[in-house]
Amino acid sequence: MNKLFKVAVLGGGASGLLSAVELLSGDNALSGKDVVILERTDRVGKKLVATGNGQGNLSNVKISIDNYSGSQSFILSFIENFKRIKPVLYLKNLGIITEADETGRIYPVSRQANSVLDIIRQYLLSKNCNVITDFKAVGVKADSIGFNIISERGEMLTAEKVVLAVGGKAAKQFGTDGTSYALATAFGHKLTSLYPSLVQLKTEKESIKGLKGIKHNVALTLTDGEKPVKTATGDLLFTDFGVSGNVVFKVSDKVQILEDPTLNIDFVPSISEAVLVNILKRRKEQGFIPQKELLNGIVHKKLGEKIFALCGNDVIKTAKAIKCFKLKVVGTLGFDYAQTTKGGIKTDDINPETFESKLQKGLYIVGEMLDVDGECGGYNLTFAFTSGIAAAKAVKTALK
Ligand SMILES: Cc1cc2nc3c(=O)[nH]c(=O)nc-3n(C[C@H](O)[C@H](O)[C@H](O)COP(=O)(O)OP(=O)(O)OC[C@H]3O[C@@H](n4cnc5c(N)ncnc54)[C@H](O)[C@@H]3O)c2cc1C
Repeated sequence: MNKLFKVAVLGGGASGLLSAVELLSGDNALSGKDVVILERTDRVGKKLVATGNGQGNLSNVKISIDNYSGSQSFILSFIENFKRIKPVLYLKNLGIITEADETGRIYPVSRQANSVLDIIRQYLLSKNCNVITDFKAVGVKADSIGFNIISERGEMLTAEKVVLAVGGKAAKQFGTDGTSYALATAFGHKLTSLYPSLVQLKTEKESIKGLKGIKHNVALTLTDGEKPVKTATGDLLFTDFGVSGNVVFKVSDKVQILEDPTLNIDFVPSISEAVLVNILKRRKEQGFIPQKELLNGIVHKKLGEKIFALCGNDVIKTAKAIKCFKLKVVGTLGFDYAQTTKGGIKTDDINPETFESKLQKGLYIVGEMLDVDGECGGYNLTFAFTSGIAAAKAVKTALK
Protein backbone atom coordinates (compact mmCIF):
# COMPACT_ATOMS: atom_id res chain seq x y z
CA MET A 1 0.00 0.00 0.00
CA ASN A 2 1.40 3.39 -0.94
CA LYS A 3 -1.22 5.90 -1.87
CA LEU A 4 -1.33 9.68 -1.84
CA PHE A 5 -4.28 11.20 0.01
CA LYS A 6 -5.03 14.86 0.49
CA VAL A 7 -5.74 14.35 4.20
CA ALA A 8 -5.05 11.51 6.62
CA VAL A 9 -6.97 11.63 9.90
CA LEU A 10 -5.10 9.51 12.45
CA GLY A 11 -7.55 8.08 14.98
CA GLY A 12 -11.20 7.25 14.42
CA GLY A 13 -12.51 8.57 17.74
CA ALA A 14 -14.80 11.51 18.51
CA SER A 15 -12.48 14.22 17.18
CA GLY A 16 -11.20 12.26 14.17
CA LEU A 17 -14.66 11.22 12.98
CA LEU A 18 -16.07 14.75 13.16
CA SER A 19 -12.93 16.04 11.47
CA ALA A 20 -13.55 13.65 8.58
CA VAL A 21 -17.24 14.62 8.40
CA GLU A 22 -16.29 18.29 8.10
CA LEU A 23 -13.58 17.60 5.48
CA LEU A 24 -16.27 16.07 3.27
CA SER A 25 -18.91 18.76 3.88
CA GLY A 26 -19.80 22.39 3.26
CA ASP A 27 -17.47 24.98 1.77
CA ASN A 28 -14.44 23.54 -0.06
CA ALA A 29 -15.63 19.97 0.66
CA LEU A 30 -13.11 17.30 -0.33
CA SER A 31 -13.97 14.13 -2.18
CA GLY A 32 -14.15 10.94 -0.10
CA LYS A 33 -11.38 9.35 -2.16
CA ASP A 34 -8.99 12.07 -0.95
CA VAL A 35 -9.56 11.50 2.76
CA VAL A 36 -8.52 8.52 4.86
CA ILE A 37 -9.21 7.70 8.50
CA LEU A 38 -6.53 5.46 9.99
CA GLU A 39 -7.71 3.66 13.12
CA ARG A 40 -5.58 1.49 15.37
CA THR A 41 -8.34 -0.86 16.59
CA ASP A 42 -10.67 -3.03 14.52
CA ARG A 43 -13.49 -0.43 14.52
CA VAL A 44 -13.88 3.32 14.63
CA GLY A 45 -15.78 5.04 17.47
CA LYS A 46 -15.43 2.32 20.11
CA LYS A 47 -15.00 4.84 22.92
CA LEU A 48 -17.78 7.08 21.64
CA VAL A 49 -20.21 4.17 21.99
CA ALA A 50 -19.18 3.70 25.65
CA THR A 51 -19.64 7.34 26.64
CA GLY A 52 -22.21 8.41 29.21
CA ASN A 53 -22.78 4.78 30.24
CA GLY A 54 -23.73 4.00 26.65
CA GLN A 55 -26.11 6.98 26.48
CA GLY A 56 -23.57 9.45 25.04
CA ASN A 57 -23.39 12.66 27.08
CA LEU A 58 -22.40 14.67 24.01
CA SER A 59 -22.31 18.19 25.38
CA ASN A 60 -23.75 20.53 27.97
CA VAL A 61 -26.04 23.54 27.87
CA LYS A 62 -23.43 25.49 29.86
CA ILE A 63 -19.98 25.57 28.30
CA SER A 64 -17.48 28.05 29.72
CA ILE A 65 -13.79 28.42 30.47
CA ASP A 66 -14.53 27.32 34.06
CA ASN A 67 -15.34 23.80 32.87
CA TYR A 68 -11.86 23.18 31.45
CA SER A 69 -8.25 22.92 32.65
CA GLY A 70 -5.28 23.88 30.52
CA SER A 71 -3.89 27.12 29.12
CA GLN A 72 -6.52 29.80 29.80
CA SER A 73 -5.86 31.70 26.56
CA PHE A 74 -6.04 28.49 24.52
CA ILE A 75 -9.32 27.50 26.16
CA LEU A 76 -10.77 31.00 25.62
CA SER A 77 -10.03 30.64 21.94
CA PHE A 78 -11.62 27.17 21.92
CA ILE A 79 -14.77 28.68 23.47
CA GLU A 80 -14.89 31.16 20.56
CA ASN A 81 -14.53 28.26 18.11
CA PHE A 82 -17.27 26.41 20.01
CA LYS A 83 -19.63 29.40 19.63
CA ARG A 84 -18.96 29.56 15.90
CA ILE A 85 -19.21 25.83 15.24
CA LYS A 86 -22.11 25.02 17.62
CA PRO A 87 -21.37 21.27 17.77
CA VAL A 88 -24.89 20.34 18.94
CA LEU A 89 -26.43 22.13 15.95
CA TYR A 90 -23.74 20.56 13.78
CA LEU A 91 -24.81 17.10 14.98
CA LYS A 92 -28.46 18.05 14.41
CA ASN A 93 -27.67 18.91 10.79
CA LEU A 94 -26.26 15.40 10.46
CA GLY A 95 -29.55 14.03 11.80
CA ILE A 96 -28.48 13.46 15.41
CA ILE A 97 -31.28 14.92 17.56
CA THR A 98 -30.40 15.77 21.15
CA GLU A 99 -32.06 16.88 24.37
CA ALA A 100 -30.79 18.16 27.71
CA ASP A 101 -31.57 16.54 31.06
CA GLU A 102 -32.48 18.54 34.17
CA THR A 103 -28.79 19.14 35.00
CA GLY A 104 -27.97 20.48 31.53
CA ARG A 105 -26.25 17.38 30.14
CA ILE A 106 -26.99 16.88 26.46
CA TYR A 107 -27.75 13.38 25.12
CA PRO A 108 -29.11 11.97 21.89
CA VAL A 109 -32.89 11.68 22.25
CA SER A 110 -32.45 7.92 21.68
CA ARG A 111 -30.14 7.80 24.73
CA GLN A 112 -27.99 5.47 22.68
CA ALA A 113 -24.44 6.56 21.91
CA ASN A 114 -24.24 3.87 19.24
CA SER A 115 -26.99 5.64 17.26
CA VAL A 116 -24.66 8.67 17.09
CA LEU A 117 -21.84 6.52 15.75
CA ASP A 118 -24.17 4.80 13.26
CA ILE A 119 -25.22 8.12 11.72
CA ILE A 120 -21.64 9.43 11.53
CA ARG A 121 -20.46 6.18 9.91
CA GLN A 122 -23.35 6.18 7.45
CA TYR A 123 -22.54 9.76 6.46
CA LEU A 124 -18.87 8.93 5.89
CA LEU A 125 -19.90 5.87 3.86
CA SER A 126 -22.24 7.98 1.71
CA LYS A 127 -19.26 10.23 0.91
CA ASN A 128 -17.02 7.23 0.09
CA CYS A 129 -14.54 8.19 2.80
CA ASN A 130 -11.65 5.71 3.13
CA VAL A 131 -11.49 4.03 6.53
CA ILE A 132 -8.59 1.74 7.32
CA THR A 133 -8.79 -0.12 10.64
CA ASP A 134 -6.09 -2.16 12.41
CA PHE A 135 -3.64 0.53 11.33
CA LYS A 136 -1.57 1.73 14.26
CA ALA A 137 0.46 4.71 13.07
CA VAL A 138 3.91 4.57 14.63
CA GLY A 139 5.65 7.22 12.56
CA VAL A 140 4.70 10.39 10.71
CA LYS A 141 7.50 11.93 8.67
CA ALA A 142 7.33 15.19 6.75
CA ASP A 143 8.73 15.42 3.22
CA SER A 144 8.39 17.76 0.24
CA ILE A 145 4.90 16.45 -0.72
CA GLY A 146 3.42 16.21 2.76
CA PHE A 147 3.71 13.35 5.20
CA ASN A 148 4.60 9.67 5.12
CA ILE A 149 2.61 7.71 7.66
CA ILE A 150 4.02 4.38 8.71
CA SER A 151 2.05 1.66 10.48
CA GLU A 152 3.25 -0.81 13.09
CA ARG A 153 3.14 -3.50 10.39
CA GLY A 154 5.34 -1.43 8.07
CA GLU A 155 2.64 -0.19 5.66
CA MET A 156 3.10 3.33 4.35
CA LEU A 157 0.63 5.99 3.23
CA THR A 158 1.25 9.52 2.04
CA ALA A 159 -0.94 12.55 2.72
CA GLU A 160 -0.59 16.27 2.10
CA LYS A 161 -2.07 17.10 5.51
CA VAL A 162 -2.33 15.11 8.73
CA VAL A 163 -4.86 15.50 11.55
CA LEU A 164 -3.56 13.80 14.69
CA ALA A 165 -6.68 12.70 16.60
CA VAL A 166 -5.22 9.75 18.49
CA GLY A 167 -6.58 10.57 21.98
CA GLY A 168 -4.73 10.39 25.29
CA LYS A 169 -3.75 7.77 27.83
CA ALA A 170 -7.07 7.00 29.51
CA ALA A 171 -9.02 3.76 28.97
CA LYS A 172 -6.53 1.75 26.94
CA GLN A 173 -9.19 -0.81 26.04
CA PHE A 174 -10.38 1.74 23.46
CA GLY A 175 -6.97 2.06 21.75
CA THR A 176 -5.63 4.94 23.83
CA ASP A 177 -2.67 3.86 25.95
CA GLY A 178 -0.49 6.96 25.70
CA THR A 179 1.98 5.50 23.19
CA SER A 180 0.69 7.75 20.41
CA TYR A 181 1.91 11.02 21.96
CA ALA A 182 5.22 10.06 20.33
CA LEU A 183 3.71 10.94 16.93
CA ALA A 184 3.64 14.60 18.04
CA THR A 185 6.75 14.71 20.21
CA ALA A 186 8.74 13.49 17.18
CA PHE A 187 8.06 16.95 15.69
CA GLY A 188 9.40 18.69 18.81
CA HIS A 189 6.06 19.06 20.58
CA LYS A 190 6.31 18.97 24.37
CA LEU A 191 4.29 16.65 26.58
CA THR A 192 3.14 17.85 30.02
CA SER A 193 2.82 15.52 33.03
CA LEU A 194 -0.10 13.12 32.60
CA TYR A 195 -2.66 12.18 35.28
CA PRO A 196 -5.81 10.08 35.15
CA SER A 197 -8.89 12.29 35.46
CA LEU A 198 -12.59 11.59 35.99
CA VAL A 199 -11.60 8.45 37.84
CA GLN A 200 -12.66 6.51 40.95
CA LEU A 201 -10.63 7.00 44.15
CA LYS A 202 -9.10 4.38 46.42
CA THR A 203 -9.44 5.25 50.10
CA GLU A 204 -8.54 3.77 53.48
CA LYS A 205 -10.85 0.78 53.92
CA GLU A 206 -11.65 0.67 57.65
CA SER A 207 -13.99 3.67 57.85
CA ILE A 208 -16.02 2.59 54.80
CA LYS A 209 -16.40 -1.08 55.78
CA GLY A 210 -19.99 -2.21 55.23
CA LEU A 211 -20.93 0.83 53.13
CA LYS A 212 -20.40 -0.69 49.67
CA GLY A 213 -23.27 0.11 47.31
CA ILE A 214 -24.57 3.10 49.32
CA LYS A 215 -25.15 6.21 47.20
CA HIS A 216 -25.57 9.69 48.70
CA ASN A 217 -25.96 13.19 47.35
CA VAL A 218 -23.11 15.05 49.04
CA ALA A 219 -21.01 18.19 49.09
CA LEU A 220 -17.38 17.16 48.87
CA THR A 221 -14.23 19.07 49.72
CA LEU A 222 -10.86 17.65 48.73
CA THR A 223 -8.16 18.91 51.07
CA ASP A 224 -4.40 18.50 51.22
CA GLY A 225 -4.14 17.84 54.94
CA GLU A 226 -6.34 20.69 56.20
CA LYS A 227 -5.91 22.95 53.15
CA PRO A 228 -9.00 23.03 50.88
CA VAL A 229 -8.18 22.25 47.23
CA LYS A 230 -11.46 21.69 45.39
CA THR A 231 -15.14 21.42 46.25
CA ALA A 232 -17.98 19.78 44.33
CA THR A 233 -21.52 18.53 44.82
CA GLY A 234 -23.25 15.47 43.40
CA ASP A 235 -23.60 11.72 43.87
CA LEU A 236 -21.04 9.69 45.79
CA LEU A 237 -21.06 5.89 45.70
CA PHE A 238 -19.18 3.72 48.23
CA THR A 239 -17.37 0.79 46.61
CA ASP A 240 -15.16 -2.02 47.89
CA PHE A 241 -12.01 -0.04 46.99
CA GLY A 242 -13.17 3.46 48.01
CA VAL A 243 -15.53 5.91 46.34
CA SER A 244 -16.97 6.59 42.92
CA GLY A 245 -19.72 8.80 41.46
CA ASN A 246 -19.80 12.10 39.60
CA VAL A 247 -18.79 14.17 42.64
CA VAL A 248 -15.68 12.03 43.03
CA PHE A 249 -14.84 12.36 39.32
CA LYS A 250 -15.02 16.14 39.68
CA VAL A 251 -12.15 16.28 42.20
CA SER A 252 -10.17 13.23 41.02
CA ASP A 253 -7.70 15.06 38.76
CA LYS A 254 -6.11 16.88 41.70
CA VAL A 255 -5.42 13.84 43.89
CA GLN A 256 -2.10 12.76 42.42
CA ILE A 257 -0.43 16.10 42.99
CA LEU A 258 -1.31 16.28 46.70
CA GLU A 259 0.75 15.04 49.65
CA ASP A 260 -2.13 14.20 51.97
CA PRO A 261 -5.33 14.02 49.90
CA THR A 262 -8.39 13.77 52.13
CA LEU A 263 -12.09 13.80 51.28
CA ASN A 264 -14.34 15.77 53.62
CA ILE A 265 -17.85 14.58 52.95
CA ASP A 266 -20.96 16.53 53.91
CA PHE A 267 -23.82 14.03 53.74
CA VAL A 268 -26.55 16.62 54.35
CA PRO A 269 -25.50 19.79 52.47
CA SER A 270 -28.99 21.30 52.83
CA ILE A 271 -28.92 21.24 56.66
CA SER A 272 -26.44 23.31 58.68
CA GLU A 273 -24.47 21.71 61.50
CA ALA A 274 -26.30 23.80 64.13
CA VAL A 275 -29.73 22.77 62.80
CA LEU A 276 -28.61 19.15 62.65
CA VAL A 277 -27.49 19.28 66.29
CA ASN A 278 -30.94 20.61 67.28
CA ILE A 279 -32.73 17.89 65.30
CA LEU A 280 -30.65 15.19 66.96
CA LYS A 281 -31.08 16.70 70.44
CA ARG A 282 -34.86 16.81 69.98
CA ARG A 283 -34.93 13.22 68.74
CA LYS A 284 -32.88 12.18 71.77
CA GLU A 285 -35.20 14.02 74.17
CA GLN A 286 -38.34 12.57 72.56
CA GLY A 287 -36.76 9.21 73.23
CA PHE A 288 -38.91 6.98 70.99
CA ILE A 289 -36.25 6.53 68.28
CA PRO A 290 -33.61 4.03 69.44
CA GLN A 291 -30.20 5.70 69.99
CA LYS A 292 -28.64 3.47 67.36
CA GLU A 293 -31.13 4.77 64.77
CA LEU A 294 -30.97 8.47 65.66
CA LEU A 295 -29.84 9.30 62.11
CA ASN A 296 -32.61 7.31 60.44
CA GLY A 297 -34.29 9.36 57.72
CA ILE A 298 -31.37 11.81 57.63
CA VAL A 299 -28.72 9.59 56.05
CA HIS A 300 -28.77 6.04 54.67
CA LYS A 301 -29.57 3.62 57.52
CA LYS A 302 -26.29 1.69 57.22
CA LEU A 303 -24.32 4.92 57.21
CA GLY A 304 -26.24 6.06 60.30
CA GLU A 305 -25.29 2.85 62.09
CA LYS A 306 -21.66 3.33 61.07
CA ILE A 307 -21.65 6.89 62.46
CA PHE A 308 -23.27 5.62 65.67
CA ALA A 309 -20.49 3.05 65.98
CA LEU A 310 -17.95 5.88 65.68
CA CYS A 311 -19.65 8.57 67.79
CA GLY A 312 -22.00 6.76 70.15
CA ASN A 313 -24.58 9.02 71.87
CA ASP A 314 -22.58 12.22 71.42
CA VAL A 315 -24.87 14.49 69.38
CA ILE A 316 -22.20 17.15 68.68
CA LYS A 317 -19.70 14.53 67.49
CA THR A 318 -22.40 12.83 65.39
CA ALA A 319 -23.39 16.08 63.64
CA LYS A 320 -19.71 16.81 62.92
CA ALA A 321 -19.19 13.33 61.45
CA ILE A 322 -22.21 13.80 59.16
CA LYS A 323 -21.19 17.27 58.03
CA CYS A 324 -17.48 16.46 57.66
CA PHE A 325 -16.80 12.76 57.27
CA LYS A 326 -13.06 12.48 56.69
CA LEU A 327 -11.69 9.86 54.36
CA LYS A 328 -8.02 9.52 53.45
CA VAL A 329 -7.38 8.96 49.75
CA VAL A 330 -4.66 6.45 48.97
CA GLY A 331 -4.74 6.68 45.17
CA THR A 332 -6.86 6.49 42.04
CA LEU A 333 -7.90 3.46 40.02
CA GLY A 334 -5.49 4.79 37.38
CA PHE A 335 -5.54 5.43 33.65
CA ASP A 336 -7.25 2.15 32.76
CA TYR A 337 -10.39 3.28 34.59
CA ALA A 338 -10.17 7.03 33.92
CA GLN A 339 -12.50 8.74 31.47
CA THR A 340 -9.95 11.29 30.41
CA THR A 341 -6.33 12.39 30.63
CA LYS A 342 -5.18 15.48 32.47
CA GLY A 343 -2.20 16.89 30.56
CA GLY A 344 -1.08 16.20 27.03
CA ILE A 345 0.64 17.95 24.15
CA LYS A 346 1.46 21.50 25.25
CA THR A 347 -0.87 23.96 23.58
CA ASP A 348 1.72 26.79 23.39
CA ASP A 349 2.88 25.26 20.11
CA ILE A 350 -0.62 24.87 18.63
CA ASN A 351 -2.52 27.58 16.76
CA PRO A 352 -5.64 27.96 18.98
CA GLU A 353 -7.95 28.80 16.05
CA THR A 354 -6.88 26.22 13.49
CA PHE A 355 -5.25 23.57 15.74
CA GLU A 356 -2.32 23.53 13.33
CA SER A 357 1.09 22.82 14.82
CA LYS A 358 3.32 25.89 15.01
CA LEU A 359 6.31 23.56 14.64
CA GLN A 360 5.21 21.66 11.54
CA LYS A 361 3.08 23.14 8.77
CA GLY A 362 0.28 20.84 7.61
CA LEU A 363 0.12 18.92 10.89
CA TYR A 364 -2.99 19.47 13.04
CA ILE A 365 -3.47 18.16 16.59
CA VAL A 366 -6.93 17.83 18.14
CA GLY A 367 -8.94 16.26 20.96
CA GLU A 368 -7.76 14.62 24.14
CA MET A 369 -4.19 14.38 22.86
CA LEU A 370 -3.86 18.09 23.75
CA ASP A 371 -3.27 19.48 27.24
CA VAL A 372 -6.96 20.38 27.72
CA ASP A 373 -9.36 18.42 29.88
CA GLY A 374 -12.94 19.06 30.81
CA GLU A 375 -15.19 18.29 33.75
CA CYS A 376 -17.65 15.44 33.80
CA GLY A 377 -20.85 16.39 31.92
CA GLY A 378 -20.20 16.30 28.16
CA TYR A 379 -17.26 18.71 28.21
CA ASN A 380 -14.62 16.36 26.80
CA LEU A 381 -16.68 15.29 23.81
CA THR A 382 -17.50 18.96 23.21
CA PHE A 383 -13.79 19.75 23.03
CA ALA A 384 -13.09 16.72 20.82
CA PHE A 385 -15.90 17.57 18.37
CA THR A 386 -15.11 21.30 18.23
CA SER A 387 -11.36 20.90 17.78
CA GLY A 388 -11.82 18.20 15.13
CA ILE A 389 -14.25 20.32 13.11
CA ALA A 390 -12.16 23.52 13.50
CA ALA A 391 -9.02 21.75 12.28
CA ALA A 392 -10.87 20.28 9.27
CA LYS A 393 -12.16 23.73 8.29
CA ALA A 394 -8.59 25.05 8.40
CA VAL A 395 -7.28 22.08 6.40
CA LYS A 396 -9.87 22.70 3.64
CA THR A 397 -8.95 26.38 3.49
CA ALA A 398 -5.24 25.51 3.27
CA LEU A 399 -5.89 23.04 0.42
CA LYS A 400 -8.11 25.44 -1.56
C1 LIG B 1 -15.94 5.04 29.60
C2 LIG B 1 -15.86 6.47 29.14
C3 LIG B 1 -17.00 7.26 29.19
C4 LIG B 1 -16.93 8.60 28.78
N1 LIG B 1 -18.07 9.34 28.77
C5 LIG B 1 -18.04 10.62 28.34
C6 LIG B 1 -19.23 11.38 28.21
O1 LIG B 1 -20.35 10.88 28.44
N2 LIG B 1 -19.11 12.68 27.80
C7 LIG B 1 -17.91 13.26 27.48
O2 LIG B 1 -17.87 14.43 27.12
N3 LIG B 1 -16.77 12.54 27.53
C8 LIG B 1 -16.80 11.24 27.93
N4 LIG B 1 -15.65 10.50 27.95
C9 LIG B 1 -14.39 11.13 27.46
C10 LIG B 1 -14.41 11.21 25.92
O3 LIG B 1 -14.89 10.00 25.40
C11 LIG B 1 -13.02 11.48 25.36
O4 LIG B 1 -12.46 12.62 25.96
C12 LIG B 1 -13.09 11.70 23.84
O5 LIG B 1 -13.55 10.52 23.21
C13 LIG B 1 -11.75 12.09 23.25
O6 LIG B 1 -11.86 12.13 21.86
P1 LIG B 1 -10.57 11.93 20.93
O7 LIG B 1 -11.06 11.86 19.53
O8 LIG B 1 -9.56 12.95 21.28
O9 LIG B 1 -9.96 10.55 21.37
P2 LIG B 1 -10.61 9.10 21.37
O10 LIG B 1 -12.08 9.19 21.30
O11 LIG B 1 -9.97 8.41 22.49
O12 LIG B 1 -10.13 8.49 19.98
C14 LIG B 1 -8.80 8.25 19.68
C15 LIG B 1 -8.76 7.17 18.62
O13 LIG B 1 -7.44 7.08 18.10
C16 LIG B 1 -7.08 5.72 17.95
N5 LIG B 1 -5.61 5.66 17.99
C17 LIG B 1 -4.80 5.80 19.05
N6 LIG B 1 -3.51 5.73 18.67
C18 LIG B 1 -3.52 5.52 17.34
C19 LIG B 1 -2.50 5.35 16.37
N7 LIG B 1 -1.21 5.37 16.71
N8 LIG B 1 -2.85 5.12 15.09
C20 LIG B 1 -4.17 5.07 14.72
N9 LIG B 1 -5.18 5.22 15.60
C21 LIG B 1 -4.86 5.46 16.88
C22 LIG B 1 -7.75 5.03 19.12
O14 LIG B 1 -7.89 3.65 18.88
C23 LIG B 1 -9.08 5.78 19.19
O15 LIG B 1 -10.07 5.19 18.38
C24 LIG B 1 -15.69 9.17 28.34
C25 LIG B 1 -14.56 8.34 28.30
C26 LIG B 1 -14.63 7.02 28.70
C27 LIG B 1 -13.40 6.15 28.64
